[in-house]
Amino acid sequence: MSTSLTTVAYLGAAILFILSLGGLSHPETSRRGNLYGIIGMTIAVLATVSGPQVTQQGYAWIVAAMVVGATIGLYAARTVKMTQMPELVALMHSLVGLAAALVGFATYIDPSASAAYQGAEKVIHDVEIYIGILIGLVTFSGSVIAFGKLSGKIGGKPLLLPARHWMNLAGLLTVIYFGARFIEADSAGAGMTPLIVMSVIALLFGIHMVMAIGGADMPVVVSMLNSYSGWAAAATGFMLSNDLLIVTGALVGSSGAILSYIMCRAMNRNFISVIAGGFGTGGGAAAPAAGGEAQPAGEVVSVSAQETAELLRDAKNVIIVPGYGMAVAQAQHTVQEITRHLREKGVNVRFGIHPVAGRMPGHMNVLLAEAKVPYDIVLEMDELNEDFPDTDVAIVIGANDIVNPAAQDDPASPIAGMPVLEVWKAKTSIVMKRSMASGYAGVDNPLFYKENNRMLFGDAKKMLDEVLGALKT
Ligand code: NDP
Repeated sequence: MSTSLTTVAYLGAAILFILSLGGLSHPETSRRGNLYGIIGMTIAVLATVSGPQVTQQGYAWIVAAMVVGATIGLYAARTVKMTQMPELVALMHSLVGLAAALVGFATYIDPSASAAYQGAEKVIHDVEIYIGILIGLVTFSGSVIAFGKLSGKIGGKPLLLPARHWMNLAGLLTVIYFGARFIEADSAGAGMTPLIVMSVIALLFGIHMVMAIGGADMPVVVSMLNSYSGWAAAATGFMLSNDLLIVTGALVGSSGAILSYIMCRAMNRNFISVIAGGFGTGGGAAAPAAGGEAQPAGEVVSVSAQETAELLRDAKNVIIVPGYGMAVAQAQHTVQEITRHLREKGVNVRFGIHPVAGRMPGHMNVLLAEAKVPYDIVLEMDELNEDFPDTDVAIVIGANDIVNPAAQDDPASPIAGMPVLEVWKAKTSIVMKRSMASGYAGVDNPLFYKENNRMLFGDAKKMLDEVLGALKT
């Protein structure tokens, strides 16, 4: 394929990626957005593979790599459970970071690539390599730790080393110092030592950064690593002089940065304090580990599925608040059936979606869309938070942190200041979960002990099946 044809193909792919991002911003257009992304990526891969840089001998390697990659990708996509999606996304970010770092090393070692640059161009090329490897390795190790935290293999509590900010500063200064030595180096051999020192610091920094971030701040970290993976890809694009990779990386990087900003706003946190870490260790009582049994702070009133069905049958206005537990139980289809049943009986049913509900941005929207819940009754937290006082029943399905009144009432709470869905203002709130265990942030929830609150204990899918059965009789 000629260079100009490759450029045209890249331009087409870049436009498709922009259309894809536009489409993915709304559930109704997301399928189309996904399709644009698939077509764009197919064009990008074909144009790159048939481009002038690939030699005849290279094809065997490329085809072998594509077969291995596609097999792993297909297997993961088919077998991964909806609850494992956030971990999978974190793992994929780590691969983007690793790829950027490996490309950086390969470009540096490749004698033909280095010989092509002289003077100022060589300095720019070296800076690209250095920064590319730096971002790539921070993304890699940070994403591996995020994977560990999201999958529960590593505890959610922040690791706060003494003088951690000084350690980070010392790391940064060392990276800058060795960066200067790397650029000064006049041979690949001489440059390798500073590159390796920086790589070790980058790996440690990624681990330290994510380990220091506490439970409820993880949404910001997930979107931040998403952004980093984009910048790592853009850096790779600079190293390989591939315009499409630069554009695509910048699109992912900037949309991830915007998402991080949205997540910070949702948590009422500022970005710098999230990165500085430590959320979840506020001045109040030490938070129990996520999922741990909190000390009961009062009496709870439990209800049966039958009683829940009666409350729902008598209600005119119902708000459903889904959370991570709905994803675990895979209860979204039963939720949809209950919703349809109640709506047919004239009940006004709406869904209240907290921006950080579940374990990844948009988690609840994806599940509800999969179950074909109409989009127009799925509302953002801000759109219906004022409506709870006029609501007869607020039913919380496997959610905990996002409906915790301590965020508003207790300045010492580790989640103080985080906006929450005010379900306790409804006439009756019903919380559906299996036990008194805390949520991801590991804090007790005073909602459970409120006078107008009822607890429906059990697996969300099982209990909702019983509620549906009782509604139909
Ligand atoms: P939480 O983690 O606060 O609570 C989920 C609740 O679901 C648990 O208390 C659990 O209680 C219950 N549960 C689990 N399995 C089941 C089941 N099978 N049936 C019924 N209930 C079940 O989730 P929320 O959605 O309320 O809040 C999200 C939290 O995750 C926030 O702290 C957020 O910061 C964090 N987070 C969000 C990310 C995002 O991008 N959205 C990313 C990373 C973290 P029990 O064990 O008693 O059943």
